[in-house]
Amino acid sequence: MCIFCDIIDHKIPSSVVYEDDEVLAILDISQVTRGHTIVMPKVHTPNVLEADDETVRTVFSAAARIAALLKEKTGASGVNLLNNCGESAGQTVDHLHVHVIPRYGENDAIQIAFNPSEPQDLAEVLQTIKG
Ligand code: AMP
Ligand code: ZN
Repeated sequence: MCIFCDIIDHKIPSSVVYEDDEVLAILDISQVTRGHTIVMPKVHTPNVLEADDETVRTVFSAAARIAALLKEKTGASGVNLLNNCGESAGQTVDHLHVHVIPRYGENDAIQIAFNPSEPQDLAEVLQTIKG
């Protein structure tokens, strides 16, 4: 059972921002900022790592278009596009989705901080990634 599949099948009501044959975009029930939208493929796939390329392209392309729509219509000054993949990354619904979050300035309710961690040896990191 997947709550987003039930939303796609209209078994659970939602506030639809955009819909076509491949994707559904709805207002997140928990609005972190005004207009916060989640964009999902209609085909069930758990996350971005398990999705096929075409699904990834379709969902992220739709998310970019919805970002432009939200920015224009809400008067937001910026937009965050966020995909949580895996529990440790904050994913709570195992159906691929992209959060599109309009931003209204420093005092809105979302904080994304890139805090410095311990220094990393970039050559060693590259070796790990590229082998
Ligand atoms: P994530 O934590 O990235 O998996 O995001 C899941 C999101 O789905 C959360 O922001 C929830 O607020 C949202 N959500 C859960 N149930 C519903 C629902 N019935 N309608 C709209 N959004 C939902
Ligand atoms: Zn699903």
